[in-house]
Amino acid sequence: MAVTEPSKGSDAGNPSSLLSDDFELNAEKWLVGNGHDATIGTMVVRTGTGPYSIGVILLTPETLSHPKVFRQLLPVAGLQGAGLSHLYFDKTPISEEHILGLHRRPLERGMHSVIKTFYRMRPCVCAMALGSAQALLDFAISHISNVKARELHSSLQIEIEAIRNLNYRAALRIDDNILDGAAVSLAKACSTEFVEKVVRIMPKLVGTELFLTDIWLQKTITDIQGYEWMEGSLDMQRLNILAGSI
Ligand SMILES: Cc1cc2nc3c(=O)[nH]c(=O)nc-3n(C[C@H](O)[C@H](O)[C@H](O)COP(=O)(O)OP(=O)(O)OC[C@H]3O[C@@H](n4cnc5c(N)ncnc54)[C@H](O)[C@@H]3O)c2cc1C
Repeated sequence: MAVTEPSKGSDAGNPSSLLSDDFELNAEKWLVGNGHDATIGTMVVRTGTGPYSIGVILLTPETLSHPKVFRQLLPVAGLQGAGLSHLYFDKTPISEEHILGLHRRPLERGMHSVIKTFYRMRPCVCAMALGSAQALLDFAISHISNVKARELHSSLQIEIEAIRNLNYRAALRIDDNILDGAAVSLAKACSTEFVEKVVRIMPKLVGTELFLTDIWLQKTITDIQGYEWMEGSLDMQRLNILAGSI
């Protein structure tokens, strides 16, 4: 799902990538998961100058193997498995039938469908962040050596249960009404803030030496920094919470 551009990240509803009237695609996208070797995908593009001229196109194996398509893996410090990639399409021909949702009204086929996908995915990102936090807490258990650290661990375990419950309820709310996105934003904000807090507290739970030298711990902590950027940063979640009702 290629949405992000080098100068348009959080401002995802205003892409520069353009599908021209004669169905030529000029696009640059980056930070796209598995984009360098995917054989199929979707891309958010501008189809005109108006505010509703945003569409989603299907990227078929033929399009992705076209000689005017350039794809490369981005060098990253963490989350190597996500295969974050840089994609460049230079006057690449696109078949009209690969513009998705033409049977729908213009507003519904573009950003509307992207927002719905974001809202559906957000509880999954929360669950991954909470899973990472739980893995850190589970790791810490066998290294805790004093009462203060044990109490701190217990309070973090209570907090994670509460956020897990919040995420579950937010996901139910999205199942009921796909455009009711404030609760999933709250869950995403709480999950990412919580997992980053657990990272900061880890030295108190396991000791500074182990914190700095354990390879699994260091890898997990590096990967955790990615959650902030998946499905919208904290600032964007806060704007969404303010715009919605909880
Ligand atoms: C692991 C991972 C997987 C990803 N997968 C994909 C993918 O598959 N497809 C894809 O298209 N993209 C993907 N992304 C990219 C991700 O969607 C972007 O990183 C994200 O949208 C933020 O965009 P940006 O990096 O350009 O940051 P920016 O939008 O430049 O944000 C920088 C800072 O400015 C703040 N900010 C921006 N706008 C506002 C505002 N209006 N008000 C207040 N603060 C603001 C942000 O909160 C942030 O703190 C992925 C990223 C990661 C880390």
